Amino acid sequence: MKKSLLLISILLLASCEDGAGVEEFVLMGLDTKVASPLGRSTKLKAKNVILFIGDGMGPNQVALARLSIGGSEHRLSFENFPITGIVYNHSTESLSTDSAAAATAWATGIQTINGFLSVDAERKFLPNIVELLNTKGYLSGLVATSSITHATPAAFYAHIHNRYEEKEIAKMLIESDISIALGGGAKFFDFSPSNESLHVIYKKESLDNNLLSSHPRVIGLFADGGLDRRLAPPTQLKMTEIALNFLAKKSLNCKGFFLMSEGSQIDWGGHDNNVKYMLSEFVDFEHSVQAGIDFAKENQDTLILVTADHATGGLILQKPIGSRIRSQWTTESHDLSPINIYAYGPGAELFSGVMNNTEIFDRILLALDYSNLDSKNCVN
Ligand SMILES: [Zn+2]
Repeated sequence: MKKSLLLISILLLASCEDGAGVEEFVLMGLDTKVASPLGRSTKLKAKNVILFIGDGMGPNQVALARLSIGGSEHRLSFENFPITGIVYNHSTESLSTDSAAAATAWATGIQTINGFLSVDAERKFLPNIVELLNTKGYLSGLVATSSITHATPAAFYAHIHNRYEEKEIAKMLIESDISIALGGGAKFFDFSPSNESLHVIYKKESLDNNLLSSHPRVIGLFADGGLDRRLAPPTQLKMTEIALNFLAKKSLNCKGFFLMSEGSQIDWGGHDNNVKYMLSEFVDFEHSVQAGIDFAKENQDTLILVTADHATGGLILQKPIGSRIRSQWTTESHDLSPINIYAYGPGAELFSGVMNNTEIFDRILLALDYSNLDSKNCVN
């Protein structure tokens, strides 16, 4: 469904002053697509992994997006995946996780305290999946529509007990094993001449496969902070396509690659109790997943995972009035909904059932047969 149609379809009816109980009506969409389910992989092990994170994307965000795009018969791209699971996401000392603790769980397999990035509850360094895979000849990339130093991407390269130290976190990205990082956050970075192997871009026009492929490492910063759609920054889709192309080319002589691509602002729409904002971010996220699916169809040793860190906004969906779905936000914070995981490609079966978010890390390594990978470095 076109974004303009989506906007028209949303009618704000009432809101409460404290934010809780904000009610919005969303018109059921007509762009119904029912693709046939994607089949199970016959391959035993995955080579590449693409992890899509919809920050704040609880089950009701998914349900509302589906209904608002194409109604009850519609299926989102990742709803055609052969395997689904349910993820619990509590952090150390809190039932309600933040993005930092959740991303640390996927990146390291260890539960930690909210606000901590790839350090444990005692603030000790935890090796992350990017670092582990790097020793086995893998390349890694990150995409986010927030600043690239924001909690979710940061857990894949930073080790620090305060997610808000974004200048420190930016230094850690420069020093990290990440080959390509695309998002916002320019104000946190200070590049020195010693970073000469790093190609830094600030304009979306520079997102060109041929221009980028001659550089060993790329950081793209398209806003001071998070990407502001009103200024027409690159979409998550565009950044994901570029990162996929870059990693696929560079990893020809490597073991494979790991890419994390985050729809960061689905969460911000939830915090704002703003359905229109949440859904427009969701649409870009879903297009990005579709790009991943297209890649995986061509490269069948690619495992795709789609999940979230937590749900945001306590979104509940009530009986429709006519073709208008009554959606209510019940908090401006994260809520306790378990979240979904969708898996496609070799190793997808490992993601069936109920799991803790820390187990996603373990299962990715199993899908890659990590313990049997030798330590050859990658030549690129
Ligand atoms: Zn949040």
